[in-house]
Amino acid sequence: AAPRDPATLATSAPERTDAYWMPFTANRQFKAEPRLLASAEGMYYRSVDGREILDGTAGLWCCNAGHARPQIVAAIQRQAATLDFAPSFQMGHPLPFVLAERLAALAPAPLQHVFYTNSGSESVDTALKIALAYHRVRGEGQRTRLIGREKGYHGVGFGGISVGGLANNRKFFGALLPGVDHLPHTLDLRRNAFSRGLPKHGAELADELERLVALHDASTIAAVIVEPIAGSAGVILPPEGYLQRLREICTKHGILLIFDEVITGFGRVGDCFAAQRFGVVPDMITTAKGLSNGAAPMGAVFVSQAIHEAFMNGPEGAIELFHGYTYSGHPLACAAALATLDVYAEENLFAAAHELGDYWEERIHALQGLPNVIDIRNYGLVGAVELAARPDAPGSRGYEVFKRAFHEQNLMVRCTGDTIALSPPLILNREHIDRIFDRLGATIRATA
Ligand code: PLP
Repeated sequence: AAPRDPATLATSAPERTDAYWMPFTANRQFKAEPRLLASAEGMYYRSVDGREILDGTAGLWCCNAGHARPQIVAAIQRQAATLDFAPSFQMGHPLPFVLAERLAALAPAPLQHVFYTNSGSESVDTALKIALAYHRVRGEGQRTRLIGREKGYHGVGFGGISVGGLANNRKFFGALLPGVDHLPHTLDLRRNAFSRGLPKHGAELADELERLVALHDASTIAAVIVEPIAGSAGVILPPEGYLQRLREICTKHGILLIFDEVITGFGRVGDCFAAQRFGVVPDMITTAKGLSNGAAPMGAVFVSQAIHEAFMNGPEGAIELFHGYTYSGHPLACAAALATLDVYAEENLFAAAHELGDYWEERIHALQGLPNVIDIRNYGLVGAVELAARPDAPGSRGYEVFKRAFHEQNLMVRCTGDTIALSPPLILNREHIDRIFDRLGATIRATA
């Protein structure tokens, strides 16, 4: 057969699906009934079978400015034709410098340095390594312990799964990093179900860090890493005052606090970072996704002035940090990110997320009372509807809602277990919000 042209290949169903081992996917189930996307624009995807799918998840929490934004497309095209690649070690090109200055200006004041990666997982492992190395260069190399949290998701590197708290992501992969401990998660339906915005109860769970300090001694602990809002475990919000208390305890004991803002970064909660919205400044912030609007793979770790300075005291000719990626600061990713930041600023999208948050909250909470809905959670333009698990098949109801929403209602949602998670592009309007919840409501009603 004659080879098909690349445009057709990208927009029609593939002849064979065998060779591709899909990530975090039930491969056999998917390949029997694929969900394939051909194109996207603004708030909508188009599937290979020609349906317009309303994007309730910004892809995978990535496309905060919506899809195929012309400025971002043009920037990537221009950059690909100008400088496709430049070595990143002992060599560079202008864009990562320009971008880092722009990023530092958006970050909380002490976080003035940027280390580039290609994904959230790499950002997390980078931040954990910087934390360990930071203590060592300061002569506190015995601080090797890392503290994560139950139900935390920090990507899939060995560092990330070690501090992460999702059993399926950990149990297959051996002993993981030694010397890791976990805080308890903050999901508490008994006290907080159907809270609007941040839950009232649970700030005291941060005090568990004092217990871990008492057990291990602060002199052994390098860093605590948490998601300000946990996404992958089904949208878990920080109780009022919880993050402040974690910050206080970390400061008291000289422990670094890392916020994993891979999903909350770049406007999702109405400020550039959740750190700003919650008024809590960590020592490092890990990001990816919205940084480049998902249009090119990119991540970044924001590092405080104090941490950065600690590395800059050795001989000038010495490499300060033995870490980095071939594609750190890749030209195409930098071009995408710079254009993305322009779109965010020109359209004031972080503020839009703030302003639409009330209407979003009103509409999602109107789903209370539908069959099997046991909790609803929201903050900024993040939402979650938790469904009761079927006693014999946990996760199956959530998956069915996800699948039916896609096939029957032309709506893209995420399911993690029996929780339906929503995180739309920040360009949406009230009509889009109405459409998302009308369609989701219909799907939940239709799912026994
Ligand atoms: N950290 C958090 C909080 C995430 O939500 C994710 C992905 O969803 C990651 C890290 C991993 O990012 P990536 O899939 O880009 O490696």
